[in-house]
Formats: sequence, structure tokens, C-alpha cells
Amino acid sequence: MAAAKPDYYELLGVERGAGEDEIKKAFRRRARELHPDLNPDDPEAEARFKQVAEAYEVLSNAESRDLYDRYGHEGLGARGGGASDFADFGSFQDLFDAFFGGDMFGRGGGARGPAAGQDLAVQVGVTFVESALGTERDIEYEAIDLCGTCDGAGHAPGATLERCSTCAGQGQVRQVSRGPFGQFLRTQVCPSCRGKGEIPSAACETCNGAGRVAGRRRINVTIPGGIASGQQIRVAGRGHAGERGAPPGDLFVAVGVEPDERFRRDGLDVVTRVVVPVTDAMLGANITVPTVDGEAHVELRSGIQSGDQVVLRGKGFPALQGRGRGDQRVVVEVRIPKVQSDEGRKAVEKLAETLDERAYREDEGFFDRLKHAFR
Ligand SMILES: [Zn+2]
Ligand SMILES: [Zn+2]
Repeated sequence: MAAAKPDYYELLGVERGAGEDEIKKAFRRRARELHPDLNPDDPEAEARFKQVAEAYEVLSNAESRDLYDRYGHEGLGARGGGASDFADFGSFQDLFDAFFGGDMFGRGGGARGPAAGQDLAVQVGVTFVESALGTERDIEYEAIDLCGTCDGAGHAPGATLERCSTCAGQGQVRQVSRGPFGQFLRTQVCPSCRGKGEIPSAACETCNGAGRVAGRRRINVTIPGGIASGQQIRVAGRGHAGERGAPPGDLFVAVGVEPDERFRRDGLDVVTRVVVPVTDAMLGANITVPTVDGEAHVELRSGIQSGDQVVLRGKGFPALQGRGRGDQRVVVEVRIPKVQSDEGRKAVEKLAETLDERAYREDEGFFDRLKHAFR
């Protein structure tokens, strides 16, 4: 997650001032080049394809593009809460068309079964406390569904099926191309029947024969306590629908945790800093500190020093796998005031007289304390 993300404009190969149409065209071109189906032996093609899709999602939406132009990737990450542009980019149909429109990818090379659905990714933001205690979110996103009218078959109800005359029912056609090195034969998915070998007398009007349509979905996702920023929850089978008879893809919910100025996470521990007046540190005090479970009372012993820690057992993060919770470490910072009046000066001088070496004796060595502070 920490690696620098490539520039969205560079990914699409367009100038920063590119118009909507130019961006759309660039995306389609890059998507065709990188589509995983066309690059089965290049494991990086899929990753790059996803980056390009992400770049397009951001740049095809005026609002997210503006945020990206002004603040870069940071600007997009700052939008916490709810599903991000991953889910609600308005131009989803473009992506859909790029995946399934006509014979765009020209899948060649022999017969193939119905393709499984693609995975989908959405992002949700949760608060620091929610990430510790767990929560749930209603997530709304767009995905490709099987067409309800034709149940994925692609033809109108009652239509009859006839053998495709273009490919004689083979589902693929051979094409002779002439290149600089002579003629060669290419096998392509039949453009007339899209590889099915049959042609319905009437295509389904809802999906134009594709068998699938873009639709909006809403699901409830449980986010377990202990989740860290950048981790993903996999919701099996909730990605794009596959072709008829093939399984759907999965939905990946990437969780972003909003920072909380009261807390910091360190492994399974929560770390809090409290500022204590020197007088409280000298006398001992009962203070209130925030925890992810609400407020807790903490007893500060007399003579507590800056950098000392009070540990609240079991107030940290639960382990995602396993039992138990981490601790909350309350790090004390003693604040020393400036004396502002003669009266104050006299009082402190008097105090100094009452303090002998024993009062300053440390319970543990300076370096032991330091070790605790940086545990
Ligand atoms: Zn249909
Ligand atoms: Zn055909």
C-alpha cells in the first residue's frame, strides 16, 4: 500500500488537459491492450489493467478528477466514509462496454466456456474506534448482473435459435490476413453469434443480446474489529456476474481507517498521550483518558515522570485471527510551568528546600524508562 501510485494521466497516456472523449478513447485502447484474457502469460497485465481502470474511474468523473488534479492521490484518499468513486463512477457503462461490448477483445484461439465474472473492488472508510470494535456498512455499488429479462441467454423470450450462418455453427471464423510476410490464418470468435454458434430470431431488448446488464446493488458488510487500514474483506460471489452458467466474481471491500487525534495504533496496542501538570505528577492524580471502549480512569502515582507509561490491559485491538485484545498504553508527558510572579517564585523556592535527594531518587533507571517508552 505504501508504494507510490503511478500518475493517472500517465497510465492512460493522455495530457493533463485531455478532454472527456480523449480520456474515454485512451482508456478503451489501454483496456484492450491489457485485458487479462489477452495476456494470459503476463501476470502483471492484470495488475496494470486494474490500475488503468482505476485511473479511468477517477478521471472520467469531474468531481474526483478535480480532487486528483488538486491534491493527487492524497486528495482521493481523504474522502472517508461510504463507497468511493470505485463504486459510483458515473461512466460504469463505459467499462462495461469495454469488457463486453461486441468483439472488442477478439478472443481467439479455440472454443472457450462461459467466462467467470470479474472481481470488483469498493472502498469504505471507518473511524478508528470502529476499526477496533468492528462495525457494519451498507455498501452500494454498480456491478454487472445477469439480465433478468432473458436470464442471461441474450435472446428475446420466445425467440427461436438458428444455426449461425457466418460460422456454420462453429462459433469461430477463420480469417486470411495478408501481412508483410505473406498470408496467415487467424481464428476469431464469430462476430455474428459471439461464439455461441446460434443466432436467436430476436435479441433480448433489455441487454441487446449481451445477456448481462449493469445494475446497482446494495449489500451489508460486516467489518471485523481489529481491521487495519488497507486490509480487504472478500465477499465471495458478489462481484460481476459471469456469463450464463459461469460463476460470478468476488467483491473486495478495501477498508480505510480515519485517523483519530486521540489514538495511535501500534500493532494490537492503542497508544494515547496525556499531558499532566507537574503538580499532579508530584502529588499523584486520578485522571480520565479516552479508550476505544469509552472513558477510563487512570491512577497516576506520585512521582510519575515524563515518558512513563500506564498500561490498560485489554483495551487495544482484537486479533483478527485468534483470541484476546492488545493493550492501551497511556504515555505520560509532564508539563513544567514557568513561574510568573514573585509569590510563585517564593513558593517554589520553599518547595525546593523541602526536597532532598530521596525525593528525586528514581524508582527505575532513566534507560529502563526509555526502554518502556519505545517498547
Ligand atoms: Zn437480456
Ligand atoms: Zn457464428
